Amino acid sequence: MIKVAAFDIGKVLLDFDYGIFVRRMASRTQMDVPELDAFLNQSPLLAQYESGQLTSPEFFAIVQKETGFDGSESEFAAYFEDIFTPIEEIIALHTTLTASGLPTYTLSNTNEMAVRHISRAYDFWPRFTGHILSHEVRALKPNPKIYELFEQTTGCHGNEILYLDDLPENIAAAKSRGWHAIEHRTPETTFRSISELGLL
Ligand SMILES: [Mg+2]
Repeated sequence: MIKVAAFDIGKVLLDFDYGIFVRRMASRTQMDVPELDAFLNQSPLLAQYESGQLTSPEFFAIVQKETGFDGSESEFAAYFEDIFTPIEEIIALHTTLTASGLPTYTLSNTNEMAVRHISRAYDFWPRFTGHILSHEVRALKPNPKIYELFEQTTGCHGNEILYLDDLPENIAAAKSRGWHAIEHRTPETTFRSISELGLL
């Protein structure tokens, strides 16, 4: 019996394209697009930020120093905000599950700057019962710690937990705990899996 639902954010509730961010920002740095992309996405920096080891001002200061970015922190944050597109079918699915009385939580690898924007821009945010976010709990999926914290917070375990995520390694970690984890690929396949549970 499902008692709670956990939603990944990126590529589940919101599509995102870091490429937009990198292309716009590169012209204001000393780096070209591939260099900036490698610096932001392939260095440990983003993981340090998203696991709460760096605050937003600390993260920005490093980016500014290493890339030569000539703008302010708020300009940098604004570049970040333009990368998201809502995935309306899954947002509607969340609304339906919430209306049925099921508690729902986000369970996401993310950062303070992204959450500052998402929590203001999308009305699904306050409809969640709560949010388990990597930068706040200082652990990134698929580290077991973030899944344990979810279980402690909700008081639910194993197959009481429905979980949607697009990344196979995050799904595998959840399945190893007995969670009912669905690897999200398309709204159609996710709807079918949830219908089979009798939740729709
Ligand atoms: Mg994701």
